Amino acid sequence: MSSEKVSCLIIGSGPAGYTAAIYASRAGLNPVLYQGAQPGGQLTITTEVDNYPGYPDGITGPEMMINFEKQAKRFGTDVRYGLATSVDFTGYPHKVIIDNKHEITADAVIISTGASAKWLGLEGEERLNGRGVSACAVCDGFFFRNQDVVVVGAGDTAAEEASYLAKLCRKVYLLVRRDEMRASKIMQKRLETLPNIEILWNTETVKLNGEEGLESVLVKNNKTGEEQLLEATGFFVAIGHKPNTDIFKGYLNMDETGYIQTIKGSSCTNIKGVFACGDAQDNVYRQAITAAGTGCMAALDAERFLVEREVDVIIEEETA
Ligand code: NDP
Repeated sequence: MSSEKVSCLIIGSGPAGYTAAIYASRAGLNPVLYQGAQPGGQLTITTEVDNYPGYPDGITGPEMMINFEKQAKRFGTDVRYGLATSVDFTGYPHKVIIDNKHEITADAVIISTGASAKWLGLEGEERLNGRGVSACAVCDGFFFRNQDVVVVGAGDTAAEEASYLAKLCRKVYLLVRRDEMRASKIMQKRLETLPNIEILWNTETVKLNGEEGLESVLVKNNKTGEEQLLEATGFFVAIGHKPNTDIFKGYLNMDETGYIQTIKGSSCTNIKGVFACGDAQDNVYRQAITAAGTGCMAALDAERFLVEREVDVIIEEETA
């Protein structure tokens, strides 16, 4: 295994990671950033971003992430392909293994690994992903104009996805596994105003049919046991997100779903020199702008930590 020592390591390349990189490079921390499994993060699978301040005419997600990367590189961030596969935060400096073969020892680690959409775990889900199955209506809804689609979920995301698709598609079936939705009342009211949305209560997905692309969805009422075949070419899963934090389990404090807990008003975790930002630690706001804001906090916290540590080392040397 090869090894290397760095001052500041950033793991992840969404708005949080790149913002941390911009601030850390400008502060002279010479950050190394590993992009992870999805360079650019979740925004690379969206189309228009209309709510990021500073872009009065909007910008596409992929274009925005290219800009973030360029800006981080302009100040000297060492941006690399590679996935953090394990960590060891028991000692100091911290150890992070990249792609199971390269060991990085870092004085400060900034975690910006984001979150990923959850899937139902059905066989056809993976096989038909990109050929009818999607977790992002805004990204893929366009391909299903004037067709019939299914949305699964009952939270705000599902309500938003269904409303979005209702504008494009002929018919939207919304599968809710209970007899009520978790989505906010206002979102539910909005659904009621859209005549081409049909909510199927107490309904779960049994099977996705189709070889080259999705053709139909077999669903079942979990109260009556009655099955129904929905002719649909699109299947949108909107059942929440999972933070990409598995490799930090056992080291960092997390909530029950795996979101990293930071000390209130900061990006500091329970381990000194390890900071968390973006969706890996935020299950509430989950916006590009909030992720970027916490990325800035993480870089400032890391800088402060490194300066204090340097002072401590000088004092230790002087008193030795
Ligand atoms: P949530 O965790 O709120 O909801 C997930 C939904 O998926 C639940 O209704 C759940 O059903 C359902 N679900 C979970 N697993 C399955 C399964 N296996 N089969 C069928 N259904 C399943 O996630 P969201 O992504 O909707 O929202 C996350 C957070 O983001 C929330 O705080 C939300 O308010 C917020 N948000 C806000 C928006 C806004 O204000 N514009 C837009 C989008 C999100 P059940 O209810 O039965 O558990």
